[in-house]
Amino acid sequence: MKVFTASLATETNTFAPMPTGLDSFLERGTFKAGTHPDHLTLFAGPLWAARQRARERGWQLVEGLVASAQPSGVTTRAAYQALRDELLADLRAALPVDMVVLGLHGAMVADGYDDCEGDLLGRVRAIVGPGVVVGAELDPHHHLSDAMVRHADLLIAFKEYPHTDVLARAFELVDLCEAQVQGRIHPVPAVADCHMITVVHTTRPPARGFVDRLMALEGQGGILSITLTHGFPWGDTADMGTKLLVYADGDRTPAERLARQLADELFAMREALAPPLLGVDEALDQALALTTAPDGGPVVIADGADNAGGGAASDATFILRRLVERGIAGAALGPLWDPGAVRIAFEAGVGATLPMRLGGKVGPLSGDPLDADCTVLALRRDMVMSGLSGAPTPMGDCALVRVGAPAGGVDVVLNTIRNQAIGTDLFTQLGCDLATRRVVVVKSSQHFHAAYAPLARQVLYAAAPGVVTQDLRQLPYRKRRRPMWPLDAAAG
Ligand SMILES: [Zn+2]
Repeated sequence: MKVFTASLATETNTFAPMPTGLDSFLERGTFKAGTHPDHLTLFAGPLWAARQRARERGWQLVEGLVASAQPSGVTTRAAYQALRDELLADLRAALPVDMVVLGLHGAMVADGYDDCEGDLLGRVRAIVGPGVVVGAELDPHHHLSDAMVRHADLLIAFKEYPHTDVLARAFELVDLCEAQVQGRIHPVPAVADCHMITVVHTTRPPARGFVDRLMALEGQGGILSITLTHGFPWGDTADMGTKLLVYADGDRTPAERLARQLADELFAMREALAPPLLGVDEALDQALALTTAPDGGPVVIADGADNAGGGAASDATFILRRLVERGIAGAALGPLWDPGAVRIAFEAGVGATLPMRLGGKVGPLSGDPLDADCTVLALRRDMVMSGLSGAPTPMGDCALVRVGAPAGGVDVVLNTIRNQAIGTDLFTQLGCDLATRRVVVVKSSQHFHAAYAPLARQVLYAAAPGVVTQDLRQLPYRKRRRPMWPLDAAAG
C-alpha cells in the first residue's frame, strides 16, 4: 500500500491584530517534503502514526510538506496559497496512492478563504479522485464545514482538552483509513449542530464523563468514530460552533440518530461546560486566601484571554500590573512575549538591575507597557519547552527577570517565539522553582492544565481583558450562524 501524508495547520483568531504570514509558519516549524524530524510535532500526528504503521506493515510512505503556525490573526492569502500549493504538488508527485492522511487544525481562515480546510480537502479529492481514501486529524477547536465532511472519508479530532491524545487519535485515523482501503469498513458521516458555542474542559465534569461516553460508544453497534467539535469562538465564520460528527459503518441512520442524541445531551449540559471565571483582583484575592497555609504548592491562575494558543500576542500586562501594584511577592508569570525586552536582558546580563519596559506593545488589548526596575535572573538561548502530547515546543531566546524588589518581586519569563505555557519547564529551565511560589500566572487557556494542575494547590481561571476574551458577547461577530447560545436570546 502506498500512503501520502502531509500537514497544514493554524487556528485563526479573526479578531486578533497580528496577521499570520509565511514567517509565522517558518518560525513554528515548517518542514519540506521528506524532512520532518524524528519526533512527534503537534499537527503531524498522522505522519508520525503512519511512519510507525509503514514500518510494521511494509507500506510505502511518502511524506509531504508539514507546516504549522502559532494561532494569530487572519492568514495572508499569499501564505495560504503558497503552502497549499506546495502540499498539493507533493501529493501530485506521489501519485498513484491508496490513501492520504493529513494533519490539519481545522480553524484556518485566510484572506479570501473562510474555510481553508474545505478548500484544501476539495483540491486533494480532485487530484486523487473518488477511489482513494482521504482522512484528516483535526484539533477539536475546528469549524466543521460541509465541504470538509464531503471531501474527506474520515475526520477525527483530538478528544482531550488539554490535547494530550494527538497520537492516539492519529493511530485511530490511520487504522480506520487502512480498513477502508481494504474494504473492511464503509464510513458514512452524520453531523448534528448544537446551536451553541462554548469552551469544553475535559478535565472536569460534566465534559469528562461525556467524552468517556463517546469513547465507550465507538466500536459498538457499527459506530466507527465520534468527534466532538468544540468549535473556536474567536473565529468568525459561518461554520463556527459546537457540533457532533459521527461515522457509522455503511448506514447513515444510526449515525444521524446518535449525532442528534449526543448534540442534545451536550446542549443540556451547556451551563456547566465552561469554567467559572473570576475577575483579576478576585482571582488574586482567592489565591492569597488559599496560600495562607505554608505547604501545598502555588495557586495557578490561567490568563486565557492572553493565550498565544488562541491568537493573542501574549504580551498583555493586566495581571502583571496588579501583581506588582499589590506587592504580591513570591509570584511568577509567563510567558510574556517581548523580543525587545529579551534583547535588552541579554545585553545587560545575569545579575544586572535596570529599568525595563515590559509587554503592552501589540495593541489596546495588550494593556499599557509596564515600566519597572528589573533584575535579570537567568538567560537561555533557543529554549525548548515540553509541549502537548510530548511534542517539543520552541520558545526562542528566553529571560527570567524579577520585577520590583530583588528580595521579593514578581518573576517573569520573557520569550521571543510566541507560545503559551504548556510544560512547567518553561519556568524550571530558568531556575524558577514553582513549588516555592505562592502564585503562578500562566498565559494559557487550558493546555497548561496537564502539567501544572498536579503541582497546584488550586487552579483558577481569570477573566482579564484580551484578544481571547472569555466574554464572547464582546466580540463583533458578522458571519456566525444565528441563533447560537449563549449569544442570542432565541437559542436554547
Ligand atoms: Zn485546540
